[in-house]
Amino acid sequence: ADVVDTAVLTAWVRHFARLVAEHAEELTALDAAIGDADHGTNMDRGLTAVVAALDGEPPAGAAALLKRVGMTLVSTVGGASGPLYGTAFLRMATAAGDRPALDPAGFAAALRAGLDGVAARGRAEPGDKTLCDAYAPAVDALDEALAAGRPLGEALVAAHAAAERGRDATTPMTARKGRASYLGERSAGHQDPGATSLALMFQAAAAAVR
Ligand code: ADP
Ligand code: MG
Ligand code: MG
Repeated sequence: ADVVDTAVLTAWVRHFARLVAEHAEELTALDAAIGDADHGTNMDRGLTAVVAALDGEPPAGAAALLKRVGMTLVSTVGGASGPLYGTAFLRMATAAGDRPALDPAGFAAALRAGLDGVAARGRAEPGDKTLCDAYAPAVDALDEALAAGRPLGEALVAAHAAAERGRDATTPMTARKGRASYLGERSAGHQDPGATSLALMFQAAAAAVR
């Protein structure tokens, strides 16, 4: 698809929910090592509520859908990840504006607005060992692939690969934000849970857009 309409956005979010459910134990185990062992539960609870919200009245357009996702995540996830992912989707909604659907550049811009929102809300910088360390390289790769003239589906595959590399790169980092930062240098040697779920978000996008 080269048009990201409400059907594609719905497929994306539903697939993200499925992947998080499949990986919930792994996400929680990663959080057990450097946090409080709830990242999988948090994300699964939030995305289960999102899927239920999407089963209701169909949203009028891209922004309405993204806003519903963001509001649901903010209101159902108690951990840091709820407000952070919620902010990402709310910023995407704002970026979508009143367009009923997004073109590839518009979708890429919305995803980048989401990253900017997370970084601002979490005061996170590159290298802090957060989900931003997977999100930033993903949107960079997406922009680069689109600028090179590649179709959106291929560009999202490249973005997903970059997100996974960014996720893997969090392992040696010392956390400077969130609960993991309480461990100081003992947080090094563990993959960040939020960067891990973030890579699933791009995996789902690539699958939904193909
Ligand atoms: P909590 O830490 O409240 O239990 P979760 O376990 O659901 O929340 O989420 C933890 C993840 O949230 C971390 O792995 C990290 O990626 C992300 N995170 C935590 N604090 C921040 C922050 N200030 N900025 C960006 N991301 C953060
Ligand atoms: Mg946690
Ligand atoms: Mg918690």
